Amino acid sequence: MAEKKKRIVKNIRIDVDKCNGCRACEIICASQHAQPRHSSTNPARARVRVIREPLSDIYVPVFAGEYTAAECAGRDKYIIDGKEYEECAFCRASCPSRDIFKEPDSDLPLKCDMCESDPTVEEPLCVQWCLADALIYEEREEEGVEEAKAEEVDEGLEALANQHGWDKVMDAMNRMGKKA
Ligand code: SF4
Ligand code: SF4
Repeated sequence: MAEKKKRIVKNIRIDVDKCNGCRACEIICASQHAQPRHSSTNPARARVRVIREPLSDIYVPVFAGEYTAAECAGRDKYIIDGKEYEECAFCRASCPSRDIFKEPDSDLPLKCDMCESDPTVEEPLCVQWCLADALIYEEREEEGVEEAKAEEVDEGLEALANQHGWDKVMDAMNRMGKKA
């Protein structure tokens, strides 16, 4: 039978009303991820960017999420306090349509890793450096997805092979491996 595993879900709660746009979160993140570590504070390397509208006193930290190889066809536009923001301004993806969340030297996509570094940090560094308490770190335990046992995988593969032949199954697995 399949086994369920517990997993820890890490979460940063963003209290936009408390953010004052100081950008300390960007600076410490960029510094933590510079090579060698702390050799640069270029905010373009940060996995968090603060969308700023100082005249309206609006500051919104946005964390880098998943990489997407292609631009999406559906775009979001936000209007806050009467100000219309650029298309995709609050999107978390590292995407070909814009420069944000890309390593400036290599163009490689950036993603927030919750500071899973070596040595490990007690709390994400942006949270530690946010003196306005706009970023709050939370952890919770959740039931994970079911993990199939090895013998179940074997049985599934054998059934597929009986139906389609081993060559086709191996071919499909090779293609999937290349995409990963
Ligand atoms: S450190 Fe905190 S207050 Fe400063 S910009 Fe980042 S989230 Fe906002
Ligand atoms: S949690 Fe760590 S990696 Fe993610 S944005 Fe904050 S400082 Fe950067």
